[in-house]
Amino acid sequence: MYEGVRSPLVYTPRSIGEFSTIIFRHPQAILWAGGTHLMASPDYYPSEARDGIIDLAFMDELKRITRNDRYVEIGAMVTARQLLSAGRLLLPPILQQTLRSMGTQIVRRQVTVGGSLCISDARLSLSTTLAILSASAEVKRYDQGKVTTVWIPVAKLYDKEGKLNLGSKSALLTRIRIGLEFGDFQRFVVFGDPIRKSDECGIVALHAKREQNGLSKVQFCVTFPRKAFHISKDLESKLSGSALPIHPEKVNMLSHELVAELTKMHSTISDLQLERARRIFESFLHDLNSQSLS
Ligand SMILES: Cc1cc2nc3c(=O)[nH]c(=O)nc-3n(C[C@H](O)[C@H](O)[C@H](O)COP(=O)(O)OP(=O)(O)OC[C@H]3O[C@@H](n4cnc5c(N)ncnc54)[C@H](O)[C@@H]3O)c2cc1C
Repeated sequence: MYEGVRSPLVYTPRSIGEFSTIIFRHPQAILWAGGTHLMASPDYYPSEARDGIIDLAFMDELKRITRNDRYVEIGAMVTARQLLSAGRLLLPPILQQTLRSMGTQIVRRQVTVGGSLCISDARLSLSTTLAILSASAEVKRYDQGKVTTVWIPVAKLYDKEGKLNLGSKSALLTRIRIGLEFGDFQRFVVFGDPIRKSDECGIVALHAKREQNGLSKVQFCVTFPRKAFHISKDLESKLSGSALPIHPEKVNMLSHELVAELTKMHSTISDLQLERARRIFESFLHDLNSQSLS
């Protein structure tokens, strides 16, 4: 049955320099991080069309977590589990909650930050949360024998359907950077199963700063895996500067504006997904109100 089937070549760079040499020679090679998404793809192995596999597991530079007093930097090969244990005192609660929501403990031992952000066509939890935390990603692009390094906000790594765009066919996400000043209101909710029933799922996250009687720096993202990655600048600016509590009529109006925006921009989201996202968004605002009154 397997006659004629060849194993793909696996390259194991130990540094970013070695990685560059390999990727220039094999620009179509698949980058292998934790492998959890790749192994779940129907055609992952083996394939004549592929140019081998580059296993990132031996690149120690991609496994570091460093911090200074302004931000923390996390290497692309840090796993969800490592980040949860190393960052317990450091990371904002919303990021810890996000990491804990990613599959089982066994899955989290395998899943990496880079792999989670670089699935080509499905946006899941980590992209959603890092987008509202204004995190940025360092990306190295390998084109025509030249390497360029750019920092890109995570919110801008994807198009409106959530498809990844690193700016080059051969690119490596090396690390992310998260500022250490967080707002004190953080909410993250996943409904449905992002992996087994991604068609019915949604991921909703909001982050804001409460000042005296008002709100500032509101950031909001709602994601429907394989359908939409939605950041509403309009809603964010309407909420930033709002006095607390927000009038129930305004809550209602904003939540219907969200649905109108989503419907206009993304035709594939189901009515049930829209309604659930709307209610979750509303519940965040009611939560904000009740906290401001207590
Ligand atoms: C049972 C199960 C349940 C899960 N549940 C959830 C969940 O609820 N929420 C959630 O968010 N996730 C969940 N996940 C994880 C998610 O589905 C992906 O499997 C995971 O995020 C991929 O990470 P990885 O490190 O294994 O990446 P890989 O599978 O190795 O790679 C994923 C993609 O990213 C590319 N890539 C990897 N690293 C880089 C890099 N540094 N630069 C450029 N490209 C790169 C690869 O080439 C590939 O295309 C679950 C996974 C499983 C198996």
